[in-house]
Amino acid sequence: MKKEELLNYIENNWRKINIYKSTGPAEHWITTYVKGVWGFNGKRSNHNFWKKLKEGDILIFHSSKSDLKIKNPSGIIGFGIVKHTYVKDGFFWYTEYKKQENIWPYIVIFSDIFFFGDVQKINKNRFIDEKNDDEIKKDIINLSKNCISFEDIKKNVRVNNEPYNFPVQGSASSFAEECKDYLLKALKEKQTVALKEEDVQYIPPEIKEDISNDYEASKEIDQIPKEKQTEYINKKIEELSKEAGEITEPKERLIKHKQRFNKLKPYIKKKFDNKCQFCDYTFIQKNGQHYSEVCHIIPWSKSHDDSQENLIVFCPNHHKEFDLGDKKRRQEIILKLKEKFPDINYKFE
Ligand SMILES: [Zn+2]
Repeated sequence: MKKEELLNYIENNWRKINIYKSTGPAEHWITTYVKGVWGFNGKRSNHNFWKKLKEGDILIFHSSKSDLKIKNPSGIIGFGIVKHTYVKDGFFWYTEYKKQENIWPYIVIFSDIFFFGDVQKINKNRFIDEKNDDEIKKDIINLSKNCISFEDIKKNVRVNNEPYNFPVQGSASSFAEECKDYLLKALKEKQTVALKEEDVQYIPPEIKEDISNDYEASKEIDQIPKEKQTEYINKKIEELSKEAGEITEPKERLIKHKQRFNKLKPYIKKKFDNKCQFCDYTFIQKNGQHYSEVCHIIPWSKSHDDSQENLIVFCPNHHKEFDLGDKKRRQEIILKLKEKFPDINYKFE
């Protein structure tokens, strides 16, 4: 979206869209610039905030004091239009790499992002864990250039005839309507750098469908109380693995199978925590998600069987080994798997 289009969008939908502010240390917004995402931790209030975000909502980026030893201005450095949300594995933010902990797993993906600062000077090809502190400090300076300070807001916005104090505390909140008007004015007047969905590196096109299926599945699972999740996952697997028996036209049947199987896969993976059932291996991808593959023991083309007993979660190595290995090796793999998972339904030819 171009800036003019965005302003039109905001003005025309002023009463319909929600505009919130998100607060985070300056270095975390570098990730937002590179990946086009923001994240929330599991604290109840933040998690609830994240859950109610809808496509089209706007997040105002509030960059607060950096944890690196640097004097950076605190203020509003940009904003993003919400596309969708999902739960990540792995690390995205400076502090997560430092602590080796997935602290902000609740992710918002933006369709459009606008920054006030000199963001073109930030190197997008090196991710935050590849940069040293000096490089990060430079990024922070560039990111916070030209930001809207709280003194500006206090000077220019009055609520009930009092100077308005922008809510600096809390990682997510809404703010006064009067302040929104001021921000809209600032947007019109300030120079901004726009990032489009295709500019951010976050979603490679080939995994878009997987992401949205994973996203739907984790959002659903997330709404179920923890102790009932396993039961829920099993129920979903059973439901999705049923063959649409009445369809006999082969091409249509294949299309239907693929659609259903793509919906089913995230649940199967989730059931085994994305770990190879044969060797327990998994790894974290650039996008922060754990990686695994789902394989039919007897190929679908022969079995038309998507039931749990015919599906295995493999790492890429064992998937290929199972598909391409000779009969003896395949049998070895199956026999080993059967020791761990007696339900596996396989009779040797
Ligand atoms: Zn494996």
